[in-house]
Amino acid sequence: MCAISAGERGRRVLLVDHSRTLAGKIRISGGGRCNFTNQNVGAENYISANPHFCRSALSRFTPQDIIGYLRKHNIDWQEKKLGQLFLKNTSRDIIDMLRQECLETGAEFLTGKEVVEVHHEAGKKDREFTVLIENQAISAPSLVIATGGLSVPETGSSPFGYKLAKQFGLQVTELKPGLVPITTQSGFPDLAGISIHTIATCNKMSFREDLLFTHNGLSGPAILQISSYWNSGDPIELDLLPGLEDVLLADYPGKKLLSTALAQYLPKKFAQYYCRNWLEDKAIGHYSLNQLKMIEKNLHRFSIIPTGTEGFRKAEVTVGGVSTHELSSKSMESKRVPGLFFIGEVVDVTGWLGGYNFQWAWSSGYVAGSFA
Ligand SMILES: Cc1cc2nc3c(=O)[nH]c(=O)nc-3n(C[C@H](O)[C@H](O)[C@H](O)COP(=O)(O)OP(=O)(O)OC[C@H]3O[C@@H](n4cnc5c(N)ncnc54)[C@H](O)[C@@H]3O)c2cc1C
Repeated sequence: MCAISAGERGRRVLLVDHSRTLAGKIRISGGGRCNFTNQNVGAENYISANPHFCRSALSRFTPQDIIGYLRKHNIDWQEKKLGQLFLKNTSRDIIDMLRQECLETGAEFLTGKEVVEVHHEAGKKDREFTVLIENQAISAPSLVIATGGLSVPETGSSPFGYKLAKQFGLQVTELKPGLVPITTQSGFPDLAGISIHTIATCNKMSFREDLLFTHNGLSGPAILQISSYWNSGDPIELDLLPGLEDVLLADYPGKKLLSTALAQYLPKKFAQYYCRNWLEDKAIGHYSLNQLKMIEKNLHRFSIIPTGTEGFRKAEVTVGGVSTHELSSKSMESKRVPGLFFIGEVVDVTGWLGGYNFQWAWSSGYVAGSFA
């Protein structure tokens, strides 16, 4: 997107990537249908040390702007839920679109080559930055770093952007995997594959979505979302009966087993597991009203302390990155090193699940391309 917007201004652009196949993450995103944006994008959907930093770029290149490109290329999309826009066909459509737009503006591609070093000579007119790529040296007045985060290394991820920021003396905030499944002491092998609608809460943030039990712990949208707010040692609270009140009292007093009563509101396998592992599975009439209220309260405030996460290999994003204090929110240019820009996931701006991360990549890329 940066190459396109710089190219449209008549800039000469070289796009360098060490991967041979470009856009590896777009390819695998959204289950192969790229959740390319969200209709309801706002600064509140992003995590950053400076929560206002992303506002400017998001307002200058909006979801309507990326939709405009899709329309121009006759690419169909659809809303799935919560404003999430997915391609109808495959991620390939948007990759081909970006490539074609780049080529139309005259951008050149250099792929499958390692960047060995970057040199900077301030004041060397129009050639301040020199990038050594294997046996080639390429100089330019602007250098835009769009190397993304650390997740899913098979897609070409590398710590290059963070290292380069440090080489230039720029701060990088603490990095951790985000939008990632969590692990628990014994996992949930008996419940693996079962999902429950829940409200997951951690560090004053809540997400109402589905959770999924896995062999190693928990996943599903509710958990992926809350994982970005989780720090080691924090409990995660789960409301497993969101919006429901006094459900067990409806069956009181009666002969129905507790697990059967719970199975009216929760997956049967989970209800049985819950009663087997944490309670006795007796007839509802054998409990007092207070005990039933307590059981329900526990299901509304089911607390787990994760042992960790599945790490960068399984994460969708890296939380943290090049500090927003170092960059202009208008242009994404380094305040200390004019001509050096950082865009996309390498910056300390991390979106929620639901198309927000691609929108940040498009928006920040667009603004950098308007200034580089
Ligand atoms: C499985 C998965 C699914 C996802 N699904 C979605 C989704 O549906 N919607 C959404 O909004 N977000 C999604 N994301 C997140 C989204 O893919 C990223 O936030 C987004 O791609 C970031 O864009 P970027 O351009 O900053 O970095 P990237 O897309 O990661 O691109 C970085 C590029 O830099 C190259 N590179 C890295 N190191 C070097 C180096 N040393 N030298 C040269 N080149 C280098 C890489 O090869 C890569 O091509 C998903 C992520 C994953 C892992």
